Amino acid sequence: MPFRDECGVFGICHQAEASRQTYLGLYALQHRGQEAAGICSGDEQGLHLHKSQGYVADVFTEAVLDALPGDAAIGHTRYSTTGGNVASAAHPFLIHGRFGQVALCHNGNLTNTEALRTRLIADGHTFTSPSDSEVLLALINRAQADNLEDALVAALRETQGAYSLLILTEDALIAARDPHGFRPLGMGHLGETVAFSSETCAFDLVGAQYERDVQPGEMVVVSRRTGEIRSWFPLPKVQPRPCVFEHIYFARPDSLVYGRSVMVARREMGRRLALRHPVEADLVVPVPDSGVSAALGYSEQSGISFDFGIIRNHYVGRTFIEPKQTIRSFGVKVKLNPVRHLLAGKRVVLVDDSIVRGTTSKKIVQMVREAGAREVHMRIACPPTTHSCFYGIDTPKRQHLIASYMSLAEITAFVEADTLGYLDLEDLEGCMGDQDGQNFCYACFTGDYPVVPG
Ligand code: SF4
Repeated sequence: MPFRDECGVFGICHQAEASRQTYLGLYALQHRGQEAAGICSGDEQGLHLHKSQGYVADVFTEAVLDALPGDAAIGHTRYSTTGGNVASAAHPFLIHGRFGQVALCHNGNLTNTEALRTRLIADGHTFTSPSDSEVLLALINRAQADNLEDALVAALRETQGAYSLLILTEDALIAARDPHGFRPLGMGHLGETVAFSSETCAFDLVGAQYERDVQPGEMVVVSRRTGEIRSWFPLPKVQPRPCVFEHIYFARPDSLVYGRSVMVARREMGRRLALRHPVEADLVVPVPDSGVSAALGYSEQSGISFDFGIIRNHYVGRTFIEPKQTIRSFGVKVKLNPVRHLLAGKRVVLVDDSIVRGTTSKKIVQMVREAGAREVHMRIACPPTTHSCFYGIDTPKRQHLIASYMSLAEITAFVEADTLGYLDLEDLEGCMGDQDGQNFCYACFTGDYPVVPG
């Protein structure tokens, strides 16, 4: 199984405090990965790297940031789903090879990593981690090319799948996005400073202005010496299919992703959900935090009042990205607590972003009932999740996705809800302004994979 991660990347160039700004950028992207963090900075002496397991605030201290000098930096927050040596798989990766020092970090999952890795190992290459970033660096270093940019293009031509990547060299900061544009990557400015980020919330924190997305298939090269910015599209063009799940669950609601407000999209999902699945009820309650925007939309459309009937403990990690089942089960009670005063005797519409295995939803419904709710009507702001993701979002194997093997009636009974309603695919497409349903990846709802999984 490929080593899969879902991560946040941030990079900045022509900024006196590049590593400190990157630290702040990663802080804003912490929700995208909490297992490891790393920054590589560059000054006249070369590139400097620090990475470790843990939260951004724990990995970096004043002293660590002081040891990352220079006016350019890239950084990464990482989440992993498989076992193995997590510390060794932390990004960025730094090599000293044919093209000097090259550091790379990326968000997304290459679908042909194992085939590439097997070939490189047969050629005598050794790897220090299971990360596909290391495979990319090996391909770059071995490419038949005279310069790094051409070597990068040659390496990317061999890859399939998803990547939004940042590369720092002694000469340049390079941003690139795969031709389908599965994972987001925005570009911003602050005076002469150029920044790249998975989400715009990181630009807000460092005071940069979001300018545009790095386009699917685009490579943006920022010269560290002259500040010149070049853009080109070196890879074969395909229909872009950015991940719709970023808007459903993964991104922060205060971010723009693919140039669209996540908050606005989620609210619209809630409105359409209310139109599609109305119910007589007293209170709309979100499953915090990712159900909040959709619940607001449901409440606005239905006229049923909204309240925070469940409170989240924000000092604990998120259920969806906890890697161990033992923590996940325990986590529901640790993370969520009902407000009995609000729920007792009420007919509750419980709004969540998605149902994955169903076990967490069942526990939340039980929790709301135990708090005194008379009825619990569950509403889900996306279609049934029936297929796994191969492009960098950590969904379980297909056989563990409840909607892949249970009918709507069976899921309703399993989670012990009075009624259950999902957003229609057509409504989701409408929320994204996708008239013909071809402009985003919806594969986890349809099985229509834009790139055949390796
Ligand atoms: Fe996103 Fe689902 Fe496509 Fe993965 S399969 S990229 S989660 S829409």
